[in-house]
Amino acid sequence: MSSPAPRHTPLRVDGRPAVRRPPYTQPPRGRARRRDWREIFPDATPQEWNDWRWQARNSIRTLEELERRLSLTEEEREGVRRTAAIFRLAITPYYLSLIDPDHFWCPVRRQAIPLPAEATVSPGELEDPLGEDLHRPVRSIVHKYPDRVLLLALDRCSVYCRHCTRRRITGQPDTDIDRQALDEAVEWLRHHPEVRDVLVSGGDPFLLSTRRLDELLSAIRSVPHVQIVRIGTRVPVCCPMRVDEELARTLRRHAPLFVVTHFNHPVEVTPEAGAACELLVDHGIPVENQTVLLRRINSSARILTDLSHRLLERRVRPYYLHQMDVAQGIEHLRTSTRTGVEILERMRGWTSGLAIPHLAVDLPGGGGKVTLGPDYLVARDERETVFRNYRGTLYTYPEPRDTDASCPYEAVYYGEEEG
Ligand code: SF4
Repeated sequence: MSSPAPRHTPLRVDGRPAVRRPPYTQPPRGRARRRDWREIFPDATPQEWNDWRWQARNSIRTLEELERRLSLTEEEREGVRRTAAIFRLAITPYYLSLIDPDHFWCPVRRQAIPLPAEATVSPGELEDPLGEDLHRPVRSIVHKYPDRVLLLALDRCSVYCRHCTRRRITGQPDTDIDRQALDEAVEWLRHHPEVRDVLVSGGDPFLLSTRRLDELLSAIRSVPHVQIVRIGTRVPVCCPMRVDEELARTLRRHAPLFVVTHFNHPVEVTPEAGAACELLVDHGIPVENQTVLLRRINSSARILTDLSHRLLERRVRPYYLHQMDVAQGIEHLRTSTRTGVEILERMRGWTSGLAIPHLAVDLPGGGGKVTLGPDYLVARDERETVFRNYRGTLYTYPEPRDTDASCPYEAVYYGEEEG
């Protein structure tokens, strides 16, 4: 049956002109500056620079160390002072080297260096924005969804992101996540056959030694009903030298295992970070990315399309674009929910579906994730559904006459035939 001829009716959405231009067509040609690390750390040898333990040991943790390596604004100085007792500061030398020294709005800078606004709790902000502590049957397990859990592996990160929503865990030096808590977690998993998917996160699990990570993954893998393991990590972004052959081979032994990274801006997809992701992919480990939508940092369709393209070039799939959670002290980095939808609307259709992440809102208080997107449905009745496409033109989809969608073979396949 031939489709009816499309009706070319230009639309306006919420009073705004329909989208008509792709958000991204050319590679950036701007003046973003990355410093040579030898300028910033003249005493370090190349071997030291490429050693993740050296990076961890030499992370910037105080205002004095930071001022020695980068010229700060008074607002940034004040931000570091005011947040010192609220949320840790740490910036690996590598991540520091990505900071554009000339621009306050450098996306790396704004993710790593606090501002005074972070010390203010705004209305609606919560210490535990996702209600995780309401669903912690044991210290290291968060069980919010029927078939999957979050396993908190440690409380440390390579860089403390100023937008972190799990700051109640990663923010302070002494939390109760220790080896015994991980043993309890694995024991809990053994008694919960409904759990088929374990997301190991924290803190950053890649900061465990490879041997310790191997032990933990072996323990999880010894639980027969766990089908897949995911590891959430920002190390490929902030300390890519940690991802070496030994780590990649170890992770491969625990397949099916997925690595979920956290790139927020194309400037973070450096040759080093890209190579770290590709090393994992080359070892058969799928790598996916979750981005947090950050106001005035990446809240632009061009930036996010560019990020998706750069990730895909490295065989990393853009997976989620997160509306920022309502953690305490980060309202200044939060966009309206409408902004995310508008961005997706500017991406969809202008680039491949593989480059478009799901826009997710994790509901405050523990309701779980819901996804948001532009609404392309204009009208629907039993005979036809009318859509607008990404250019704002109307098209009609004819509905079939027979609407019974039950699958007769389903009961056969699942052994549920009667009599
Ligand atoms: S890496 Fe993740 S857990 Fe760690 S500070 Fe950043 S957002 Fe928080």
